[in-house]
Amino acid sequence: MKIFIDGKFFSERDAKVSVFDHGLLYGDGVFEGIRAYNGRVFKLQEHIERLYCSAKAILLDIPMTPAQMMKATVETCRVNKLRDCYIRLIVTRGVGTLGLNPRTCKKPSIIIIAGKIQLYPKEYYQRGLDLVTVPTTRNLHNSVNPAIKSLNYLNNILAKIEANNAGVEEAIMLNAEGFVAECTGDNLFIIKRGVLYTPPLSAGALYGITRQTVIELAEALGIKVAEPNLTRYDLFNADECFITGTAAEVVPVVKIDGRVIGNGQPGAITRQLEVNYHTLTKHTGESIFPA
Ligand code: PMP
Repeated sequence: MKIFIDGKFFSERDAKVSVFDHGLLYGDGVFEGIRAYNGRVFKLQEHIERLYCSAKAILLDIPMTPAQMMKATVETCRVNKLRDCYIRLIVTRGVGTLGLNPRTCKKPSIIIIAGKIQLYPKEYYQRGLDLVTVPTTRNLHNSVNPAIKSLNYLNNILAKIEANNAGVEEAIMLNAEGFVAECTGDNLFIIKRGVLYTPPLSAGALYGITRQTVIELAEALGIKVAEPNLTRYDLFNADECFITGTAAEVVPVVKIDGRVIGNGQPGAITRQLEVNYHTLTKHTGESIFPA
């Protein structure tokens, strides 16, 4: 595997960062998780735009233009001869002193890894997931804004540990007011009487690219989409539920906090959106091996 670091490709063995990088010392940096299907990088522009928005929010000046970043991402897939992969794009604050002041970091580092996709086991897609809500609340907007895809994922990791302790794969995080925000690495949707609902971004969700894609797919099917604040009660009484994310795609949810959702089977609208999402991933995106 060849890994891109600051303009050069390194073997897995030689791909190293300094122990003084503030990305490591303080989680000071931003990242993206992107996927390529069938020789095309899916929603590349959207991911790169979100990366630069995350960087702007933490006053991190990426030493590369978005166009160069897109090129480097595609190039990383190409040199690894990958047609289907998961791409991790990381921008760290760079090497500095042991103090946390980012001013000591002179140059941010850019890392691009294109590797195998780690998927949920197939049976979760067939049977649907069992989720729980957890005690750790989603970060406040005025502390670390959940819209920033930063290298500081402890908020999500704590919730993931709580899900693991409860014996399930994924956690639903509520915000400080008790409204549903999102899962630890995925956005959440419900369907009630034919309407698709997902928490507003202001509730503390990441501006999910799969979320946006699914909203557009639903609208194309003539399904009404709304983004109200949702409570646990709304989830328990939904007809269908599913989560979305670049790695997970669309995964049905059939139980939340011990309450069976709908009839306990993945719902019909969920299934339709899953199919339409897969079709879209196979036929659109930035070509890795142009003719
Ligand atoms: N929420 C969080 C906290 C995430 O980290 C992610 C991405 N892994 C998502 C939602 C889903 O976003 P996307 O569809 O852009 O992958």
